[in-house]
Amino acid sequence: MAQFELSAATALWSELLEAFKSQIPEQSFCTWIQPLTPQRLEDNTLLLAAPSQFHREWIEGHYIRNIECALKELHGEDIRLKLHVAAGALPRSAPPLPRVRETSERAESSFESSLNPRYQFEAFVEGDSNSFARAACMAVADVSHRCPWNPLLIYGGTGLGKTHLLQAIGNRVVAKHKSYRVLYASSERFTQDFIQSVQTRHTTDFSHRYRSIDLLLVDDIQFFAAKERTQIEFFHAFNTLYQNGKRIVLTSDRPVAELAGFDKRLISRFDSGLVTNIDPPDYETRVAILRNRAEADKFPLTRDVADFLATSITANVRDLEGAYVTLAARCQLMRVPPTLDLLRDVLRCRGSQNGARPPAEKILALVVEHFRISPEILRGKSRKREIVFARMVAMTLMCEDTALSLKAIGAQFGGRDHTTVMHARDTIQNRRTAGDTEVIAALKEIQQKA
Ligand code: ADP
Ligand code: MG
Repeated sequence: MAQFELSAATALWSELLEAFKSQIPEQSFCTWIQPLTPQRLEDNTLLLAAPSQFHREWIEGHYIRNIECALKELHGEDIRLKLHVAAGALPRSAPPLPRVRETSERAESSFESSLNPRYQFEAFVEGDSNSFARAACMAVADVSHRCPWNPLLIYGGTGLGKTHLLQAIGNRVVAKHKSYRVLYASSERFTQDFIQSVQTRHTTDFSHRYRSIDLLLVDDIQFFAAKERTQIEFFHAFNTLYQNGKRIVLTSDRPVAELAGFDKRLISRFDSGLVTNIDPPDYETRVAILRNRAEADKFPLTRDVADFLATSITANVRDLEGAYVTLAARCQLMRVPPTLDLLRDVLRCRGSQNGARPPAEKILALVVEHFRISPEILRGKSRKREIVFARMVAMTLMCEDTALSLKAIGAQFGGRDHTTVMHARDTIQNRRTAGDTEVIAALKEIQQKA
């Protein structure tokens, strides 16, 4: 079998990501864990690169023990984590890392902008589902031309390439215009920065930082909902940049009309620009994404394995990539070529969480069983606390685990309105993010059976 370039560190890290994903809220996972890049594995120490000093300290302060525990559970032996700030991130950064080739990823993010060089337009596969959003992003990235709309807002479900496109804009601009000040921030990062600036009484530094840039990229703005002070700060930064003709690109997991808890002034600002969406990729795009990735990794992915994978995972590119990376990691560790049997096993192990998605009826059946109530009561009009809770859990699982629209989910519950479904989902997701054990336990138990 041809040697492909997936190192032991990458294989171990991808396994860890799979296992760790369900242990912390999704947003924290995306903000803090995903941007870490595996570098090498040596003497039971896994070396990771963090995109900035701030990021590194955050991981050391909040996650390092849990990650080490998860690694021990996976491998039965102690594996220590060591973090570096990615080369090029800070002038006073840790000693330069040796150059190792890690799939297509190289840990060289710029501190100023927090960009991950892995996300480029060239690595983004175009298909009907994303071609307009991609074209809009490329137009924004071409700073030599006037951009006809500002801001640009891209919305779409999770794992469909929003962050990839947002970062690709930043990477292209930085590559072509060295002096251009580009800033990428997740909404969580923006919020943390703001809270920190209030705590340390450095709010002027904060405003200065966010208002003195040429291109602002803010990811997942739905998390600003109901964070009033952060929203006000964001609104000021936004206005200053907007009035100075600076470009602003935002992403959200839902359309503007569904951004609950947002100041009306912000909503009308978003609407004044261009709003576009990304849909789940069609079959051809999914196959092309897999081929592209395999080519970059020099991984001998055969046509039948790629077809089977692209048919099994349909809703989300992140899941598709996740299954691919697990398959590639297994092949690497076991030194065998990819086969359909191995792929079936990978999909089985990944379970319904990422593989074949459970249909809505199955979710209903599991929720009914879990809460010991009848389907009629679940679908009915009862406002009893435990019934309402069960209903909200069922709606959330359908939002997260099926490709059904809010309207179609509402229809499953006696024709309830899509805003009711949205409210249920937001309530449950917020409670999960806040660490509510009742919610976390119910979701986990039901998802395990799905
Ligand atoms: P989102 O921000 O919408 O949740 P991401 O941008 O994080 O999704 O994408 C999830 C993963 O899928 C990333 O690794 C990204 O590179 C990859 N991806 C998504 N869409 C594409 C595409 N069209 N071509 C190549 N890779 C893609
Ligand atoms: Mg994202």
